Amino acid sequence: MKLGIATVSISGNLEEKIDAIAAAGFDGIEIFEQDFIADTRPPREVGDRIRAAGLDLLLFQPFRDFEGLPGDLRRKAFDRAERKFDLMQELGCDLVLVCSSVHPEALGGIDRAAADFAELGERAAARGLRVGYEALAWGRHVNDHRDAWEIVRRADHPSVGVILDSFHTLGRGIDPETIRRIPGDRIFFVQLADAPRIDMDLLYWSRHFRCMPGEGDLDIGAFTRAVMATGYAGPISLEIFNDQFRGGIPKAIAREGHRSLVNLLDAVRRAEPDLAAAGLPDLPPPSPPGGVEFIEFATRGAEAEGIAKLLQTLGFRETGRHIAKNLTLWQQGEIRIVLNAETEGHADNTFAVHRTNVCDMGLRVADAARTETRAVALGSESFDQPRGPGELDIPAIRGLGGSVLHLLDDGLRDVWQVEFAGAGDPGPGAGLTRIDHVAQTMSYDEMLSWSLFYSTLFGMEKQPMVDVIDPDGLVRSQALSTPGGGLRITLNGTESHRTLAGGFLADSFGATVQHVAFATSDIFDTAGKLAAAGFEPLPMTANYYADLAARFDFAPGMLDRMKAANILYDRVGEGEFFQLYSRPFAGAMFFEIVDRRGGYDGYGAPNAPFRIAAQKRLGRPKGMPRY
Ligand code: MG
Ligand code: MG
Repeated sequence: MKLGIATVSISGNLEEKIDAIAAAGFDGIEIFEQDFIADTRPPREVGDRIRAAGLDLLLFQPFRDFEGLPGDLRRKAFDRAERKFDLMQELGCDLVLVCSSVHPEALGGIDRAAADFAELGERAAARGLRVGYEALAWGRHVNDHRDAWEIVRRADHPSVGVILDSFHTLGRGIDPETIRRIPGDRIFFVQLADAPRIDMDLLYWSRHFRCMPGEGDLDIGAFTRAVMATGYAGPISLEIFNDQFRGGIPKAIAREGHRSLVNLLDAVRRAEPDLAAAGLPDLPPPSPPGGVEFIEFATRGAEAEGIAKLLQTLGFRETGRHIAKNLTLWQQGEIRIVLNAETEGHADNTFAVHRTNVCDMGLRVADAARTETRAVALGSESFDQPRGPGELDIPAIRGLGGSVLHLLDDGLRDVWQVEFAGAGDPGPGAGLTRIDHVAQTMSYDEMLSWSLFYSTLFGMEKQPMVDVIDPDGLVRSQALSTPGGGLRITLNGTESHRTLAGGFLADSFGATVQHVAFATSDIFDTAGKLAAAGFEPLPMTANYYADLAARFDFAPGMLDRMKAANILYDRVGEGEFFQLYSRPFAGAMFFEIVDRRGGYDGYGAPNAPFRIAAQKRLGRPKGMPRY
């Protein structure tokens, strides 16, 4: 099975696109005509360049407004086709995509179109070329793959086949199961694109909002399973028109595309065991992590002292020191926080770039080696760091943006006893039990990449994106979680540097973890213990509590207790959510404490504007300068 991508899917000039597509591991390329026309080289040279990069030239596209034209316009359409056939022969590409006509003078009629394609097929065959017909969702007379197939069937020419594009089928709500009725050898090419569900003009939606399979809301899995069930053995290729990708880094976008395609086809193989022989990618299955095993901060000096003090007031206790490195372990409940003050290696590198930051995260997985294998097959890099004597070999991968994810299974979890001396008792603490969620901040155009990273690697599910109003701009928030909520990640995308998230990004040069939320099962008890330990919560306004009183009914005294402890509140149905925030530390990082009750599954989004405003009022904490 060959994996391809259309040149239109990524940014850059043709040369950059070819390099990026080859580097990402694709087998072939669809050449979008405009990319060729903008190039200075003659077609033969362009074809040779593509082949020299190790890529097949799978498809030349698009040829528009061909079928159904009357009289002179028809003759002219055939002349145009002959010119493009010349070009394809020079390029060394044997398949052209003809998309259904939007020409104002095109006439309807399945037999008329079939006759045109029979003649085009004859002319293509004379040159050893093939023609594929694609129904555009907004085609004038043909906008459904079933009609395109009927035209191809009646044209009845071996050099004429149908081209399927998931966007055109799923975007119009056509049942992809209907594809199963098309003989696989009459499908000449398959293009995939996902898209978020937005109710808008089909053409505009298609040209600007397509995205990689798995990044949107279309059922690309059902579409691809139906395609594969026909016995189709040709290429599967991405054709993505997306404004963010057009402005993205070519290599990163190409890698993201390859990841999405491998993940999709791996899932298709799993869902349709009969396809075992189809040559689909075969990866270890995604295995949802059970939770966060540890969070590691690279930190030093006054900022390190500040974090240590804050952890103490949160009820953590230092329980161990690394046998060889300058690492201290802090624990409470199941939570482990490592403060890394090393002056060489990965943590030091991140400190040099971001100052204090979360440089590593450890996840509890069922099988660390298999998870690493899956990650690498999806295009992630393994991460290795020299190990000292007595240190364990823990599989790790690079996340996006240079972060490192360690994968710990049951066989590796004695790392704490092995590598940390003194491993003392964390004591009763303040009732914090586990890490509820980790919140990452990024520029908006990186959000899809991160979300794809977590969903493909761990099978995490996306919740609907929510808009959070910062006083100085919009922040979009996307939560992902494993079934049951063992691992929860929130991604916050900002376009403005004036938002709290944007300021964090600018100050930290792209560090990603901005806050870590700890779970408690009794936030009032925890708040009391924190107060006794000298914890300073983020102060909320009286107006906030007056509004809560207006929106919700509370048991007597409840609102006063929340107000006294600066606890925030949200309710959805029977589910209740209590939140308590720390003041910012080391720039704009902070901790959060949450108490989920009655199955509440969100993150308190309605409270975010007031929390952000409160944080902005405080500005940077004293004694924790940014340099
Ligand atoms: Mg298409
Ligand atoms: Mg949060």
